[in-house]
Amino acid sequence: MIDDATAPVCAICHNALYEHELTHQACRPCTDRIDQQLSALAGPDGLYARLTDSLHPGSGSGGPVVSGSRTAPLPLRLDPLSLAARGGVVTVLQTWLIDWHDLLGYRHPRWDGDLQQQLDQVVGRLRVLLPWAAEEHGAISEFAGEVAQLRRQCEAATGGERGPRRFGVTCPCGATLKITIESPGKHCDRCGAQYDRRALFDLQLSERRAA
Ligand SMILES: [Zn+2]
Ligand SMILES: [Zn+2]
Repeated sequence: MIDDATAPVCAICHNALYEHELTHQACRPCTDRIDQQLSALAGPDGLYARLTDSLHPGSGSGGPVVSGSRTAPLPLRLDPLSLAARGGVVTVLQTWLIDWHDLLGYRHPRWDGDLQQQLDQVVGRLRVLLPWAAEEHGAISEFAGEVAQLRRQCEAATGGERGPRRFGVTCPCGATLKITIESPGKHCDRCGAQYDRRALFDLQLSERRAA
């Protein structure tokens, strides 16, 4: 006997669970979505690899992530860096895997290789254990939220599927220049001023005006 107020719902989308999954934490569509977001991060063409590439324009080598930049990094450039470095995407996912292994009574997971290899390993392992987590893990909605956020942040930092977020800066002439964090420079059509990348990001952000 289950009344509406106590009928089990998915911890993520809060829709009622199907009969065969009443004891689960998360419904099937939510579990599938997490799986897709995890797999989008991994592999040679995944978001994490593209994130690392975006830190090394013109360099195809898998060298260290943080060294050797020829110019001082612009503040807006720090976002992909902090996502790609230790402590970013890889560490967040490894922290979840450690938690899952703990709950399952497994040994502490091992990490091998560079950060890309570790990312691929941890994603593979989380995907294997995801069906268990969807059934049993009390914090599955927090996990889903963090995976979705990592994916969004990586997409925003790499240009992703939707492209980098556009925003406006104000030329001293009063014109608004539409740019993204990847704009190499910009020409003001009204007054003719030419801005290189650094000058562009020194301009004042435009306030969003109601249309
Ligand atoms: Zn759901
Ligand atoms: Zn101008």
